[in-house]
Amino acid sequence: MNQLHVFFFPLLAPGHMIPTLDMAKLFISRGVKTTIIATPGFDKLIENARESGCDIGMHVLKFPPEKSELPDEIKSLDQISDDLIPMFAKALELLQEPVEKLLEEFHPDCLVADMFFPWAVDSAAKFDIPRLVFHGTCYLSLCSSEHMRIYEPFKNVSSDSEQFVLPDLPHELKFTRPQVVFHFDQEEIQNDFTKQLIRIQESETRSYGVLVNSFYELEPDYADHYRKVLRRKAWHIGPLLLCNKGGEEYKAQRGKESAIDEDECLEWLNSKDPNSVVYVCFGSLATFTEKQLHEIANGLDISGQKFIWVVRKGKNQEEDETENWLPEGFEERTKDKGLIIRGWAPQLSILENKAVGGFVTHCGWNSTLEGVCSGVPMVTWPIFAEQFFNEKLVTDVLRIGVSVGNKQWKRMGSEGIEREAIDTAIRRIMEGEEGAEMRRRAQEYKEKARKAVEEDGSSYTDLNALFEELSAIKVGQRDNRDK
Ligand code: UDP
Repeated sequence: MNQLHVFFFPLLAPGHMIPTLDMAKLFISRGVKTTIIATPGFDKLIENARESGCDIGMHVLKFPPEKSELPDEIKSLDQISDDLIPMFAKALELLQEPVEKLLEEFHPDCLVADMFFPWAVDSAAKFDIPRLVFHGTCYLSLCSSEHMRIYEPFKNVSSDSEQFVLPDLPHELKFTRPQVVFHFDQEEIQNDFTKQLIRIQESETRSYGVLVNSFYELEPDYADHYRKVLRRKAWHIGPLLLCNKGGEEYKAQRGKESAIDEDECLEWLNSKDPNSVVYVCFGSLATFTEKQLHEIANGLDISGQKFIWVVRKGKNQEEDETENWLPEGFEERTKDKGLIIRGWAPQLSILENKAVGGFVTHCGWNSTLEGVCSGVPMVTWPIFAEQFFNEKLVTDVLRIGVSVGNKQWKRMGSEGIEREAIDTAIRRIMEGEEGAEMRRRAQEYKEKARKAVEEDGSSYTDLNALFEELSAIKVGQRDNRDK
């Protein structure tokens, strides 16, 4: 009767679904009943967790076929090229009605809905249910987005190369215009996206609060700034990936099936010296041009480092089949020191292996946090969205990484970084005193991350505070009904 029941409604993208599943498992481990509203494509992931004994409730919602223009085969955001984004956004709107039916029927005590469902605040309000927002990013990025919106400092520069400082933040964070002003090739998509961002921000201010997959010791200035200066209600409850290690099953089923035999991959790593391999992966959504992939290959080659390089097979990358991006004889020449994974990699298991000494990352928040929890320095290569903010946390605030220097927000067909920049950045994290210093600091954050989720740690206690508040609301509502 007093047990809390929380509904989660994640966006259908690996970077949103993976931490939501972690969150649901964490809530269960703390005595809360959880249900995930899943969209096709991720039901299998939840089903797997259930089969291995995790008591997560699930409702699968399909896009209404008579109304949705989204092609049937599209199951997740990682399959969507930019030109399908308007259709995708419309399809998300169609989920409001079925979600409301579920809320009416089950009346959970809280709805944790992804930022990309701005209407969720109204749906929850209809049934007197508090809505929490989940963005899946860090405090620094939340504060930066808000300051970008308030001050619009990018309007004060006269060229794309001129840097500006984002005002009134705890650190002097510098950006250039193309890093923060999103860019789609088609004007219509650009306009729709702007409108959607405004709706998202407006919805957030009316929501009950925000859940942050971070921990206080990682970014205390920004946690305080967000809560005390920007006066947002927020709870940090991460790193979620550490909260609920469910054994091997858990790692193997993160997101998708791996494109490589995990044992084989780990065996390869186990044959290498500690901290001698650089892991290169750019998440689930970004794609590069052939030319850029070619530069990455050459950059890795001239850096002389051992590597695991994950090359995503994405939409609009028909060229994958021909592999023109691979320099002649590259794989043969580097076979002792390098491994290319074409598709999905078992990222957590790789990062946790002691042979891995550095991570070239696109700074998606999950990957960044996984890098932090593994205690490795990073080469930061943000590609789009809030990744440019996350980069600043790694390079300027925590000082556990080196930027490769990408200046352009472009999700599909990103390019412009030359092999020399890649080589230099990789060497800086893998070699010499500078790299060793970053590694020492990274190891300290790894330890702090672990402590944050232990009993009485900062994330543990913040989650308790959230549960207490939700329980008080539940009791208050019951008392009102009984009057
Ligand atoms: N991931 C993985 N294997 C891959 C690529 C990504 O396991 O080959 C996981 C990664 O560990 C992370 C998530 O997918 O948990 C990607 O989320 P992130 O926020 O880093 O980036 P996004 O994909 O949303 O851009």
